[in-house]
Amino acid sequence: MKSVLDIKNISFGYTKDIFLFNEFSLSLNEGEIKAIVGPSGVGKSTLFELILGHRKPHVGSIRSMSISQVFQDPYSSFHPTYTIREQINEVTSMEGYNVLLDQMGLEESHLDTLPHKLSGGQLQRCSILRALLMKPKLLLLDEPTSALDNLNQLDIMKLIIKHIKEMGVLLITHDGDLARWCADEIITLENVETDNSPILPVTLSQKD
Ligand code: ADP
Ligand code: MG
Repeated sequence: MKSVLDIKNISFGYTKDIFLFNEFSLSLNEGEIKAIVGPSGVGKSTLFELILGHRKPHVGSIRSMSISQVFQDPYSSFHPTYTIREQINEVTSMEGYNVLLDQMGLEESHLDTLPHKLSGGQLQRCSILRALLMKPKLLLLDEPTSALDNLNQLDIMKLIIKHIKEMGVLLITHDGDLARWCADEIITLENVETDNSPILPVTLSQKD
């Protein structure tokens, strides 16, 4: 199995005395989906920032193959004054998009629309469409389905799973049912107070 992400013993905190990660490791192979769960503020989005290289760990290493990302808020992931099609074209080839469009429950006309004319659910599906068209080796999903209704969530995750043969997926979610349903492994980040009071995340649960 080909590794798409390898995080080795990283430590990171925004301030000197509070560590969000301490000797944290995580690996992901092609075809795997792992869910990251844990309370708000524990460092889930920070982990993605580290993987994307926007932040550097104090120690440890992160190696990853090509990444695309789907954010929680779809309106923040598109520029307001360009159409969806223009913005997808900017980053990737549209080759094979019509099949995906149909699977996503989207129409051609949605692509020629400005982002704010679409509903949150429609726009998030456009964001997932763009991410899949980029054919990444690693797909980072930060609460991607919170803009969608329940029924849609499951359909969209099923669709993503169909495409994961050639990539690995890291999914941040608050939805335990969704995580248990789709993930090979669930990684629970927890705040642990120690004597010196740094906050250390621990990996708790494995696949059930
Ligand atoms: P989660 O995604 O699990 O809700 P985050 O990774 O967004 O958590 O944030 C983890 C912690 O780091 C929070 O306490 C948050 O306030 C803090 N934090 C996030 N971004 C920054 C930043 N740019 N500067 C300083 N602290 C930050
Ligand atoms: Mg977050």
